[in-house]
Amino acid sequence: MSIKYNVQLKPYNSFRTIALARIFCEPQTVEDLSNAIKHFHNERKVVLGAGCNLFFTRDFDGVVIKPGMKGITIVAETDEYVDIEAGASEEWDQFVGFCVSHGYAGIENLSLIPSSVGASPIQNIGAYGSEVKDTIVRVKAVHINTGEYHEFTNEECAFGYRDSHFKRTGNYVITSVVFRLNKRFVFKDKYVDVSRELQGIASPSISQVRDAIIRIRTRKLPDFSLLPNAGSFFKNPLLTKEEKDALQRILPDAPIYNAGEKEFKTSAAFLIEEAGYKGKRKGMVGTYEHHALIIVNYGTESGQEIVAFMKEIQQEVKKQFDILLEPEVWIY
Ligand SMILES: Cc1cc2nc3c(=O)[nH]c(=O)nc-3n(C[C@H](O)[C@H](O)[C@H](O)COP(=O)(O)OP(=O)(O)OC[C@H]3O[C@@H](n4cnc5c(N)ncnc54)[C@H](O)[C@@H]3O)c2cc1C
Repeated sequence: MSIKYNVQLKPYNSFRTIALARIFCEPQTVEDLSNAIKHFHNERKVVLGAGCNLFFTRDFDGVVIKPGMKGITIVAETDEYVDIEAGASEEWDQFVGFCVSHGYAGIENLSLIPSSVGASPIQNIGAYGSEVKDTIVRVKAVHINTGEYHEFTNEECAFGYRDSHFKRTGNYVITSVVFRLNKRFVFKDKYVDVSRELQGIASPSISQVRDAIIRIRTRKLPDFSLLPNAGSFFKNPLLTKEEKDALQRILPDAPIYNAGEKEFKTSAAFLIEEAGYKGKRKGMVGTYEHHALIIVNYGTESGQEIVAFMKEIQQEVKKQFDILLEPEVWIY
């Protein structure tokens, strides 16, 4: 197993902020991972996937674990479905491409989300009306403190909106995920952008849906290799009925969605835009001109500069609409 010291983390996070990891290890197998955890039992630990949803504000005085488990294997099959296991370090979109090319349906709407397979259950990645939780049958993981191996059923993962048991506890390093995908693809008209992109095609194929989503995302989202960012920076805020009513008194056009029995959700992008922060730039940090929810890095290496801009947006939205935006991105 590869263990390195004082490793620069700039290439390992999509915001391209600098920080040193005192210890950096890339276990390739469950056994390696378990041994590394036991060996470094007194050290602080953090897990790193493709680094597209996190950034660093300071050096990390502990062990950065970057799971290196590879492989895509069919582990069960019937006439209707396949169960496919993919290693944590498989690149998510390559995995989606593999499944689509074999006609295995269920994750095509999640095309082009920058992620490792291992991180996909953490925040239950979702896009265009689909969430990965609907395809996961098992998650295999190792406890980050004891090194013990554990398998989780879908239910045990306790998935929620951009949420899971793993995200809430931070206790497990995911080593592989088993997905159940359908052999028969049925196009479900779930999302207006996708339907518009597929206009004129009566019965789109799974590949046509994937291609449409790739086109939409490429148009809408900044490429982090050119303009470093971590995708949506803030979560869409959940509101009580009172908070929703108060918001609608200030912003009658605010989009409101039902989110469970007593809660409502509004759009963080809408609030940021209304606060005057869409396309706003401060020094080397700003929000993307086409999408207020994405903070982009125009050339700083300092995570602190990004945090300062984040706080400014939070304060302005709080002042104007009395809503505190919570970051979706992990800040270390
Ligand atoms: C341009 C852009 C667009 C995006 N669009 C979307 C979108 O449409 N939908 C969406 O849901 N997300 C989106 N995101 C966010 C991001 O793609 C997801 O959060 C993704 O799952 C991050 O994967 P990662 O491998 O980069 O994880 P990282 O950023 O490396 O890690 C994220 C978190 O997961 C933990 N983690 C990572 N791997 C493991 C593991 N193997 N075991 C345990 N913990 C682990 C880390 O410790 C950290 O807490 C977008 C990001 C970008 C940059």
